Amino acid sequence: MITPSYEQLFENNRRWVESELSLDPDHFERLAAGQSPEYLFIGCSDSRVNANEMVGMRSGQMFIHRNIANLVVHTDMNLMSVLQFAVEVLEVQHVIVCGHYGCGGVAAAVDGSYHGLIDKWLRTIKDVYRIYHDELEAIDDPELRHQRLVELNVREQVYRLCSTSIVQRRWGSAMGDHVHGWAYDLRHGLLKDLEIDPADEPARYIYELDGL
Ligand SMILES: [Zn+2]
Repeated sequence: MITPSYEQLFENNRRWVESELSLDPDHFERLAAGQSPEYLFIGCSDSRVNANEMVGMRSGQMFIHRNIANLVVHTDMNLMSVLQFAVEVLEVQHVIVCGHYGCGGVAAAVDGSYHGLIDKWLRTIKDVYRIYHDELEAIDDPELRHQRLVELNVREQVYRLCSTSIVQRRWGSAMGDHVHGWAYDLRHGLLKDLEIDPADEPARYIYELDGL
């Protein structure tokens, strides 16, 4: 792949504006008036994971948060603010955590090496490994073990979302219909719905509110 020069980015931008306007002359005017996306997408920062493109969404249709290894950390004010705004103000209908096979962050978390500050961020993936230790250790092929860890990491992030009062207040016991876990395969571009139902493992989260 040839990486475009810095100047090329502005040329690309002008072409993109022209192409968007040729499809819809009011496109930018309408977007400038406001947004009402249906989806919140939480994905990895990896440059090969393009949230909008992979699901055919245009500007204005998807609220997006990305960090290394698509983690939901309850003390991360950035992500929690995104979640609160998307769920309570924008009233998105679906929250999606999307991991991807070949994730460098997931791999680095369990390779036993020192990587500097990022090890602190990836720390919670080691906890995912501990929770599913027996299942993961039973997989001999390192690639398949990595893929399973990617999926289980997504599952834990879905449970963490379901542990928040933000999700619980909005959807209550129907949260499984609105919070989803996906895995993206870089090798062929296809998405897999991991079909995670928080109701399957209620012990993974505790309701923060009475009466749910
Ligand atoms: Zn990644």
